[in-house]
Amino acid sequence: MLRNDQLDQWDRENFFHPSTHLADFARGDLPQRIVTGGSGCHIEDRDGNRLLDSFAGLYCVNVGYGRPEIAQAIADQAKELAYYHSYVGHGTEASITLAKMVLDRAPSNMSKVYFGLSGSDANETNIKLVWYFKNILGRPEKKKIISRWRGYHGSGLMTGSLTGLELFHKKFDLPLAQVLHTEAPYYYRRADHDQSEAQFVAHCVEALEALIAKEGADTIAAFIGEPALGTGGLVPPPDGYWPAIQEVLDRHDILLIADEVVTGFGRLGSMFGSDHYGMRPDIITIAKGLTSAYAPLSGSIVSDKVWAVLERGTDENGPIGHGWTYSAHPIGAAAGVANLKLIDDLDLIANARDVGAYLKAVLQDALGSHPHVGEVRGEGLLCAVEFVKDRETRGFFDPADKVGPRLAAALLERGVIARAMPQGDILGFAPPFCLTRDEADEIASKLGDVTRAVL
Ligand code: PLP
Repeated sequence: MLRNDQLDQWDRENFFHPSTHLADFARGDLPQRIVTGGSGCHIEDRDGNRLLDSFAGLYCVNVGYGRPEIAQAIADQAKELAYYHSYVGHGTEASITLAKMVLDRAPSNMSKVYFGLSGSDANETNIKLVWYFKNILGRPEKKKIISRWRGYHGSGLMTGSLTGLELFHKKFDLPLAQVLHTEAPYYYRRADHDQSEAQFVAHCVEALEALIAKEGADTIAAFIGEPALGTGGLVPPPDGYWPAIQEVLDRHDILLIADEVVTGFGRLGSMFGSDHYGMRPDIITIAKGLTSAYAPLSGSIVSDKVWAVLERGTDENGPIGHGWTYSAHPIGAAAGVANLKLIDDLDLIANARDVGAYLKAVLQDALGSHPHVGEVRGEGLLCAVEFVKDRETRGFFDPADKVGPRLAAALLERGVIARAMPQGDILGFAPPFCLTRDEADEIASKLGDVTRAVL
């Protein structure tokens, strides 16, 4: 075991932390937190703190920490066969079993699953598949992709472009030219104050129609969206949003990619967000909840309609020129099989639904009347509290005041991890599905204390 001071020094000297203010970290203005263990909804750090992780890592440890069943499945697979590739018809029992389990749970028009490593690479795969699909159908001019402001789809070149958050574009020369952004279905922030939800949905539809008319439907291949916005603010869509958007897409022959990296496998209290909100996607992106992050694995689930064209494409052009060395990695697949079994055996999606509703209610009770709380929202175990300077006008705090990060830091001091979302003063709560009502009470009462102390 390394001494603590040695570990700190090596961390500062050698480690490039993602999504981090690098200069602040180098100056020592950002705390180092070295995580050593976890169990259920809690993690432990090397300073002996035991913290209630109400964001499940990066909303991915859905079954909770320290599950021996998954650890054992990974160890068994590593001993038996740590790796073999899945190119040109090769496979392993774990990857084939997992594909079957995923399809058994997916909407009935889904046909095959392609496995990758991360949500970002799965979405890169999806865009390549959409372009391939259009080329095979003889529509090479129909290539643009519509995403939403506030959407998050990863941080690669294409996926960073699809992401509708400025931080992920700035100084990276993104977005790429093929990507268009439309209105975010963010009723609290984007609707006029006197607009009903139905009027706001009509506004989102009009904005989409106007964009399609401006660009030409013949140039647009697909629309990508998270069933409920995640990193852009944890925002369930207004009632009727997805059916209304789906109607526009169908009319203009635009494919729908449902990015279910966060919502897939139960976070909203349903197996998939697509089912929950009445979406009819052509492709579904999965990652985080597929293995509960016990090993990296993602997937692109493609529908019958897409699959038929892909197969035809290979008859005309030879094998599909797309693959990663680690596609369908057996260790990730073994983790996925054990994870999906556990979700069923422990009925964790029902718990996500029930305790999720309870968490939202206790957050509302603890904070709803505070003058700086604009909105408490959520669906299943995806909840957020949005803080505002002025409740009447929904006015923002000065970003320099760092209200969100200060609240998160104060909550952490009381033993609860929440995520200060990257845009706006929003604290996000997306705990493991095994959260108990007592733990939900603890989150709400500590956040109430912290809010009164800081604001
Ligand atoms: N899509 C969504 C909806 C996400 O929330 C994320 C990550 O948070 C991604 C894609 C990218 O996944 P990854 O970070 O595994 O590349």
